[in-house]
Amino acid sequence: MKALVYEAPYQMTVHDVPVPTVGADEVLIKVAYSGICGSELSGFEGKNSLRKPPLIMGHEFSGVITEIGAQAAITRPDLQVGSQVTANPLVTCGQCEYCLVGRQQLCPKRKLLSASLPGSNAEYVTVTATNVLVLPEGMALTTASLTEPMACAVHTARIVSPHPGETALVVGAGPIGLMTIQALAVYGLKTIYCADLNAERLAMVESLGAVPVNLKEWNGPVDIAIDAVGASATRQSCAKVVRAGGRVAWTGLHEAESALPINDLIRREIVAYGSFAYNPLDFKAALDGLASGVFALQPAWTRIETLEKGSACFEELLHGSSVSKIWLQPGELS
Ligand SMILES: [Zn+2]
Ligand SMILES: [Zn+2]
Repeated sequence: MKALVYEAPYQMTVHDVPVPTVGADEVLIKVAYSGICGSELSGFEGKNSLRKPPLIMGHEFSGVITEIGAQAAITRPDLQVGSQVTANPLVTCGQCEYCLVGRQQLCPKRKLLSASLPGSNAEYVTVTATNVLVLPEGMALTTASLTEPMACAVHTARIVSPHPGETALVVGAGPIGLMTIQALAVYGLKTIYCADLNAERLAMVESLGAVPVNLKEWNGPVDIAIDAVGASATRQSCAKVVRAGGRVAWTGLHEAESALPINDLIRREIVAYGSFAYNPLDFKAALDGLASGVFALQPAWTRIETLEKGSACFEELLHGSSVSKIWLQPGELS
């Protein structure tokens, strides 16, 4: 099969590799669309310790089941060859205390497709049957491949417990920022503000009903501040604009360390959260919301490219693309 293989920083090439063999508890999926994620851009640059070459990236995908392992056929009788699906790429043990209480994202044995397991930037990918979700009738495969990033946004919104009438700031209008605005909106907030430096992305923010702000001249205060970038400056902005007693969530992973005004956070009793990935319920809520249209990225904000264009797409997104999400299409579905 064709696969886009990350070989060294800034080097990603399409190669012929064997189709993965299906484990007893796994299914084989023919990939329809595989979205490029911001976290993979730092991997492409060689700045992500979890992504070591040679590696097939890609973990935001949809496709069609072509083979079902013997055990999976028993545990998931609802899965059929030909089923249109997406999958939660975070494979967890299901046994530890975190898994048992529904915080699978903290499982010490967790493995992510596109980091420690081969990802979906290929014609085929295997995944544990437990992690597979069948698409609701009529849902587009493109839309379905947004489930993973949308699940991150649903999780972040859930963590900060928004109440009707509150205000929130989202820093960063990349795909996660735009999706976080939509995930917050369902809680009935009074105003959702969003800061970004890119004018095209601020236009997307406005069309979602959020209010663009410039952090150079705008100081809040807001009840909730969420960083969807992961730079020191944006993390600090969140700490600055949140009101006394407010909540901050840091979700963007970019710089490994950032200085924060801890004394100020203490004196103003700021509640701070890390928000990482999602649990299976967040994933299901994201899929349902995308299927019903409550969550969406407008078609003009997305683009479909071939696997061969993959490397160029990574470069484009690194340098600030005007599209929000690029999907790689490894082949035609028969
Ligand atoms: Zn992702
Ligand atoms: Zn576990």
